[in-house]
Amino acid sequence: MLRNKSFVKRTRKGNIVRTVKEHYLRDDIACGYESCKHSVCVSARNEAEEQGKTLVGGIHPATPLSASPRNSVQWGPHYLVPDTNAFVNQIDILERPIINDVVVLSTVLDELRGLSMVVYNRVRAIVRDHERRWFVFSNEHHRETFVDRAADESPNDRNDRAIRVAVQWLGKHLEGASIRPVMVTNDEDNLRKAAADGVTACRMEECLGVYKECPELLDMMGSVNITDRNATDSNWEGYAEYLSPVQIQAGIKAGILMQGTLQIAPYNYLEGSIFAAFPDGKERRVLVIGRKDMNRAIQGDKIAVQILPRSQWRKAPSAALVDEDEDAVPDVDTKTEITQAAPSVPDTDKTNEGRARKRARVAGGKLGNSSSAATTEATEDGEEGHEELGEFVKPADVEDDSVDGEPTGRVVGVIRRNWRSYCAFLDPNFAHKGTKASNAPVSVSVLAMDRRIPKIKIRTRQVDVLSGQRFVVAIDSWPKESRYPHGHFVRALGDAGDKATETEVLLLEHDVPFQPFTKNVRADLPPEGDKWLLDVDRDQITSGKRRDLRHIDICSIDPPGCTDIDDALHAIRLPNGNFQVGVHIADVTNFVKPNTAMDKEAAHRSTTVYLVDRRIDMLPELLGTNLCSLMSNVDRLAFSCIWELDQDATIVNVTFHKSVIHSKASLTYEEAQNRIDDPSLKDSITNNIRDLNMLAKKLRKRRIDAGALTLSSPEVRFRLENDSQDPVDVEMKALKETNALVEEFMLLANTSVAAKIYEHFPDSAMLRRHPEPPAQNFDNLQHALKPLDIQLETGSSLALAQSLDRAVLASDPYFNNLLRILTTRCMMQAQYFCSGSCTPEEFRHYGLATAIYTHFTSPIRRYADVMVHRLLHASIDRDAVYGSELTDKIKMNEQCDVLNHRHRMAQQASRSSVELYTNLFFKGKTVEETGYVTQILQNGFGVLIPSYGIEGVVYTAARDAAAPSVLEYEQEAHALVSPDKKSEIRLFQRVRVILQVDDKPVSANVSSMRRKLSLRLIEPMIAGLSIEADELKALRAAKKTKAANADEDGKIVELVAKHPEQIQTI
Ligand SMILES: [Zn+2]
Repeated sequence: MLRNKSFVKRTRKGNIVRTVKEHYLRDDIACGYESCKHSVCVSARNEAEEQGKTLVGGIHPATPLSASPRNSVQWGPHYLVPDTNAFVNQIDILERPIINDVVVLSTVLDELRGLSMVVYNRVRAIVRDHERRWFVFSNEHHRETFVDRAADESPNDRNDRAIRVAVQWLGKHLEGASIRPVMVTNDEDNLRKAAADGVTACRMEECLGVYKECPELLDMMGSVNITDRNATDSNWEGYAEYLSPVQIQAGIKAGILMQGTLQIAPYNYLEGSIFAAFPDGKERRVLVIGRKDMNRAIQGDKIAVQILPRSQWRKAPSAALVDEDEDAVPDVDTKTEITQAAPSVPDTDKTNEGRARKRARVAGGKLGNSSSAATTEATEDGEEGHEELGEFVKPADVEDDSVDGEPTGRVVGVIRRNWRSYCAFLDPNFAHKGTKASNAPVSVSVLAMDRRIPKIKIRTRQVDVLSGQRFVVAIDSWPKESRYPHGHFVRALGDAGDKATETEVLLLEHDVPFQPFTKNVRADLPPEGDKWLLDVDRDQITSGKRRDLRHIDICSIDPPGCTDIDDALHAIRLPNGNFQVGVHIADVTNFVKPNTAMDKEAAHRSTTVYLVDRRIDMLPELLGTNLCSLMSNVDRLAFSCIWELDQDATIVNVTFHKSVIHSKASLTYEEAQNRIDDPSLKDSITNNIRDLNMLAKKLRKRRIDAGALTLSSPEVRFRLENDSQDPVDVEMKALKETNALVEEFMLLANTSVAAKIYEHFPDSAMLRRHPEPPAQNFDNLQHALKPLDIQLETGSSLALAQSLDRAVLASDPYFNNLLRILTTRCMMQAQYFCSGSCTPEEFRHYGLATAIYTHFTSPIRRYADVMVHRLLHASIDRDAVYGSELTDKIKMNEQCDVLNHRHRMAQQASRSSVELYTNLFFKGKTVEETGYVTQILQNGFGVLIPSYGIEGVVYTAARDAAAPSVLEYEQEAHALVSPDKKSEIRLFQRVRVILQVDDKPVSANVSSMRRKLSLRLIEPMIAGLSIEADELKALRAAKKTKAANADEDGKIVELVAKHPEQIQTI
């Protein structure tokens, strides 16, 4: 039977288009029930069985719904049939493995696809997991369940009716089996109509109530269903209404409103800013300061901002540390705002206010990136409506310098929400609420681990359980009447302070994909598994496509315990006195083919992430630590870069080959160094390493002469106890000459490859650049250096490098190192980019002082290198077959964005992991150390402790806002000065401090929940700030000595991967 069905679709530009599709209706669609006796269903099952599709546990993929589903008093055995909004609003709940036997109607699936690809894909993933027994019932193609849209019916109403009809039909069909389909919807209208039609239907809460063993499911319900108007926040007058999307678009077009992505200061949740293009074409920062002007915008939201009159402009951010939790810290706007938050959530989003309202809410909250907050549904006919543009103040003349301050604005609308799930903990002020005997939900505040996020109000029945725990919450809405956003509990992570819990928190917070590789990905591994052996025909050695270099004495040099060996080297003296030098890189792309599941997963992960106690791989272990890893004494495929270098290490020529190598030795940096240093050793490998070392030194000198920067970042490693993996010691990493040797040749290979792929793919080469830092990045540093009579020349990397070399203090040998660390922090981020999107002048890598650069040498742990390998292969092999993945500029740019994001997150995750272990290490210890001031804040200063490579803050203002600050911040001098001007704290100052980590129970207060390392000043002695002599004496007496039973053979875990400098700065 052929029917026409018309669809209303929204195009990318937001226009509404009606399309008509031919639509076949069928009689042979199974119901999904595994023991159904209806002939259609029996034959569907038989057919699947004939194709051998019965899965483990006897689940039929064609009819997976269980014969004994969940049984309840009110419905007996039943299947759930959620409507579209149930999926959109409650996908976190439905994803729980406990929710089985769910019928997904094709009507619902179609609607989901239009509403949110994120939710759609999550639903599809559950359906694919047959053990969940979810079933897609194609009601839209079933002759008996298809419905035509009535003349006076909206598409939404038609779809609701289609859902009811399908549930009704399934009910009749399953009558004999005594299984009841239950429609799940929170739409009042739909519930009423269902009751009238005799269709079993219930609200989400009701159907979750059946899962008595899992009470937290009810907590996971969005706050949208909470009604609690009894208490209101009397000090709170509410936020300003947002402008309509039409007004916002008109305002932006007219140059009256600015748009940009809100960035919140890392230490002060009340200071935000956007970078926006002004009508004169220039990009400027616009400050958005204080809760009222931020008007419910959250870190990462794309917002529309109206510029305030000049008299209300603010100065640059205050550089004060403010945490949402410290209620005594004055708000930027008003002091009265920081009162104890009202414990109840006023309800604003009722569920029965019609579709448009629901959709708007959906768009505003749950779907994050995929939809637009301010976009309301366009009307059926594509009419967008014509609203009057509100009255706007024209942005003031931004070039007028007579007024102090920067352009400052207020949020008038949110263009796109960037809400995600947040790791959080219960505000300790609310912990007492759990002692109530009743099981009624209570409203509490939770604090996100990300300090840029405001408090979130949730309703929960499990306050006692949550206290002292880490858990995940999601934000549902932020009604204008409510000071804080409303959200719901998603899932528990475990006890705060527990190592495994905290590690999961830092992975989630840094958006690191850490789930095990899926079956699909593993299916792309070589079928031979670890029995894989070189095959001269298959691997194209006989055809000459791959060069056989197995006879050459190649070796690798890595940190101890390195199992994912990306690179190996060799050097041969040539008859003409020159050297042949080879860098051999794991041939990952021989195993990872474009667009396979494994390739997509690697692209998604983008990088291997190194934590103190574990590694989260980009590629499955079989490849990373075995088949690709260039281990010694086995044949391995490689991509080789081979130069002829003269005695001065100048390149005579370079060639690139796919190759097969047979490494003769896998050495550690230390072993390689010992070979160089031991004059009795005369073997070929040792002589090669000596030649490489000699050449590397020349290369390095040439690079530094050209202006390459040698910057520093403190590197830490922990000595972990073997069993518990608890840190028993922490030390700074020492670098050996051989680290520099390897680094030098990797840089040379990366530079040579960059030039080669750019030559062949001028528009779509994946390169890496490092922009020059603007001079004002160094302002604070220069201020602080002035009294020391030192000036940094920042005009070029060469000038900077030379002025860094000169900046030595005889009185303090550590000063130069410290200055390099602080200089690193003034640098821009290096980033991947597609060559077609920048001018060749912009390709420059400032830190390395090279005109062009890329990443080629670590394809096991960086996806950029995988792309570069494909580009290089296509550049050298005329017969290489490749697709648009190497030529599509837009795709390449998108991939670069993902890589840059993941790369940054991976670095931060590594650092957080160090911080976690540092806190564990210092827990219960009191340690006195020398440190250096690295950061001046309004209410404190940062101190770096070189012996541990860690940094903390000494607060100079008491948390109690009423108390006067001990030291005043003087912006001009960039220093903290006592009122009598006798004491001051400046950058670079050497101080003595005591390090402590709170020993209190974690749930006791916010700072223990945050696990802050606390620093207290000993010297200089500043009255009211430094520890008093008596207390110091007591502390010293009570000081616990380091654990005497520290296991000296404890496994040393290298924190940062192989070439640490590269990871940090290049
Ligand atoms: Zn059936």
